[in-house]
Amino acid sequence: MQPIQRLSVWDFLHPRKTEIEARQLLAPKVDLSPYLLPEGHVHIAFSGGRTSAFMLHQILEANGDLPDRCEVSFQNTGREMPQTYDFVAEVGRRWGVEITWLEYRPDKPLFEVVGYQGASRNGEPFDALIAKKKALPNQAQKWCSAQLKSLTAKRYLVAKGWKTWSNFIGFRADEPHRNAFQDNRARAILPLRVAGVSRHHVIAFWQRQPFDLSLPVVNGRTIGGNCDGCFLQSEATIAALSRDHPARASWWEKHENNVGHTFSKRFSRRELRKFMERQGDWALSTEGALCQKNEGECTE
Ligand code: SF4
Repeated sequence: MQPIQRLSVWDFLHPRKTEIEARQLLAPKVDLSPYLLPEGHVHIAFSGGRTSAFMLHQILEANGDLPDRCEVSFQNTGREMPQTYDFVAEVGRRWGVEITWLEYRPDKPLFEVVGYQGASRNGEPFDALIAKKKALPNQAQKWCSAQLKSLTAKRYLVAKGWKTWSNFIGFRADEPHRNAFQDNRARAILPLRVAGVSRHHVIAFWQRQPFDLSLPVVNGRTIGGNCDGCFLQSEATIAALSRDHPARASWWEKHENNVGHTFSKRFSRRELRKFMERQGDWALSTEGALCQKNEGECTE
């Protein structure tokens, strides 16, 4: 039963309160203590996904406006979906929080502050890293995540003069296998784990919000939430990209052709594209035709 009947009693006692305020007061109290800011400098890692946005929301709920000793950053690889860029900008606008948009650069200081307008949209930071390494990352060697995300943020914070800091990272309670990037300057804080937040809590939160990330959720996972053709995704997901976004898929195939290696041990992007051209949707709708297993997540 909806709590509207109890609201009428509450409204009788507090006639000036609106229904929304009354609902908030009747809602079960959430323990926000895991989200309280510690002393010293604090970095909040915003990946552009629903989970880390939820973490940011809870931090704002617990602390109010963020002090100057706090930085929220989004590291752009250039391979995010356009919806992610719009979502990051909207989070900042609606919640009144300044988000620093950063990108990897191959030359010192190895990062650049870019902002929404200046953000790369065609993989340029990732291109530059592959050109510098003359290699491709893969499941065993995820240096793209370290360089494009964790170290890019670190370089920016060190350039600001920070010596040590606390790093809020949005790893949930239902993904205990994920480990924070080891850093001699940063202490990882995982408030979602402490608060017992799972993907179901995050989805339920976004269903109640007036805006959301415009990328679909399938089995509790956001499709397109990592780099668009990330090698950690299942064969089926990467095959769907080549069907639905051939221009985006071609970026990954181009790099395999140029470097002469593949992102995955199991298949090349060219082979997967050819397979999809032969089999069409049959391959995606038939269980077992393509591997459905994800190979972990991008760790920031
Ligand atoms: S999402 Fe995948 S490809 Fe992109 S940086 Fe992370 S591990 Fe690398």
